[in-house]
Formats: sequence, C-alpha cells, structure tokens
Amino acid sequence: MQTVVLIKQVPDTATRIKIGPDGKDIQRDGLTLVLNPYDEYAVEEALRLREQHGGTVTVMTLGPARADEALRSALAMGADEAVRVDGKPQDALQVGWALAQAIRTLSPDLILCGKQAVDDDQAEVGALVAEFLDLPQATVAVALSVDPAAHSASAKREVEGGLQQLAFSLPAVVTAQKGLNEPRYPSLPGIMKAKRKEIAVLSADLGIEPGLELVRLTPPEARKAGTVLKDLSGADAGAELVRLLHEDAKAI
Ligand SMILES: Cc1cc2nc3c(=O)[nH]c(=O)nc-3n(C[C@H](O)[C@H](O)[C@H](O)COP(=O)(O)OP(=O)(O)OC[C@H]3O[C@@H](n4cnc5c(N)ncnc54)[C@H](O)[C@@H]3O)c2cc1C
Repeated sequence: MQTVVLIKQVPDTATRIKIGPDGKDIQRDGLTLVLNPYDEYAVEEALRLREQHGGTVTVMTLGPARADEALRSALAMGADEAVRVDGKPQDALQVGWALAQAIRTLSPDLILCGKQAVDDDQAEVGALVAEFLDLPQATVAVALSVDPAAHSASAKREVEGGLQQLAFSLPAVVTAQKGLNEPRYPSLPGIMKAKRKEIAVLSADLGIEPGLELVRLTPPEARKAGTVLKDLSGADAGAELVRLLHEDAKAI
C-alpha cells in the first residue's frame, strides 16, 4: 500500500511570534520550527498501516529548503521517502493545487494530512487536495482502518455526544485528529538514517490563480497591566476582589 503524508513545517507554538515589517508575514529568523503536531498523527498512522499491510510511506511538503528539516523528522520516525515541492504559493488554494499535482505523479492508495496547521489554522489543504484529485475525504479522523485488497476504508470521527463512522473507497484523503494514535519518538538509528536520506525536490505547479489576498497580520492587543490590591488583607481584600470581578471585569 502506498501512502503519501502531507506535512507542514510550522513555528513551535511555544515560540513568541513577531510580525514582519511588511505586515504580511511573521519574522522567521531565530524561530524554532517543528513538524505540525497534527501531521505527527498522520505520519504515525501511515507507519502503522505499513506495518499491517506492507508498502511505502512518502512524506511530502510544500515549502522552502528549510522545510527539509520537517521531512527529516518524519523520515526519522520511519517514513521511507521524502519529497519537497519547492515554490512560494500565495494562499491555501495554490498550496492544495500544487500538492495535488505532485501527488498525482505518485498514484498513492491513501493520502493522510493533519486536520489543520497550527500556524495558519485554515484546515483547508486536505479538503482542497481531495477536491482537486476528485477523491473521497474523511476529515478530523480519530480511527482509521483500511483494506487495500478491497480498495476500501473506514474512519471514525468525533461528533457531539458520539462517533460517526464513514466507509469509503480508496484512494482517499484522510485528515488526522488528536487521538488517532500516539505518535512514536524517532529512534537514534532512525535519526542517523534520516540525515543521510536524499530528498526529492519538485518545482511547484502554481497554475491556479490564488483565491484570496492576505491583507494584513495584526498582533493581539497588548495585555493591560494587572491591578494590585494595596493596603488590603483578609476579608477586605476578598470583598474588593469580588467587587472588581463583578463591576470591572464583569466576570461574576
Ligand atoms: C512557502 C510558503 C509561502 C506562503 N506564502 C503565502 C503568502 O505570501 N500569502 C498567503 O496568503 N499565503 C501564503 N502561504 C500559504 C499559507 O501560509 C498557508 O500555508 C496555506 O493557506 C494553508 O493553510 P494552513 O497552513 O492553515 O494549512 P491547513 O489547511 O490548516 O493544513 C492542514 C493540513 O494540510 C497539510 N498542509 C498544509 N500546508 C502544507 C504544506 N505547505 N505542505 C504540505 N502539507 C501541507 C498538512 O497535512 C496540514 O496538517 C504560503 C505557504 C507556504 C508553504
């Protein structure tokens, strides 16, 4: 079974983000970049399916040369091949289009993605890839089973108060939700092997007009300074705190 996993390199969520001088991108110098956490579930699921059914796992990203690091993280987890699609897309439509064209050349049985990228949070790429390749899609999956011989699969999704089970034919696109599995840590031999592995680089086909223009990024409002209750203690401090929560913060 051939599986392609789409992965994105994103800033670590613990990093302090600053907006760049043009107001349209973040400052990337000195940022800690990691494999998108939801993509770790997608990689892990692909590895487990390979263990069950055989085949290969190819990880693919669209991004600049520094995104090779994310590919190497996935290789260190156990992926077999890595492809970087090189290009500068302008929106999710172009990302989805370029990835779909690159995936087409591999004819996989299954395409796995994270449910969303934790930096831009658009949750669009998996759905766009499925549409551009005219494939069924199961989004935000917490369980997946496949029968490659019968070209069929089944996925479970969490819905309010229960689980929804879907059946679909392969090839298909599935986006991974937290809980799908517990991603493994890369082994030391895996890390060493990943360092030497060649990464295939393709030029991005951006042959679709972007649908959106990013107008501006704005930082969240600066936090107001806290209030210090001076010269109050015990019940007096408690009463004043309740008054402030009620009248100023309108929290109670
Ligand atoms: C190098 C680069 C430059 C960009 N420049 C601009 C710009 O100037 N202006 C602008 O508006 N937008 C730009 N974008 C697009 C934008 O930043 C988002 O990446 C895009 O809109 C997708 O949304 P998202 O990241 O929220 O992904 P989501 O749709 O939330 O991601 C869901 C899943 O799709 C997959 N995925 C997402 N992105 C990628 C990827 N790049 N490679 C492989 N898999 C992926 C992952 O599995 C991920 O978990 C750029 C993107 C890249 C990669």
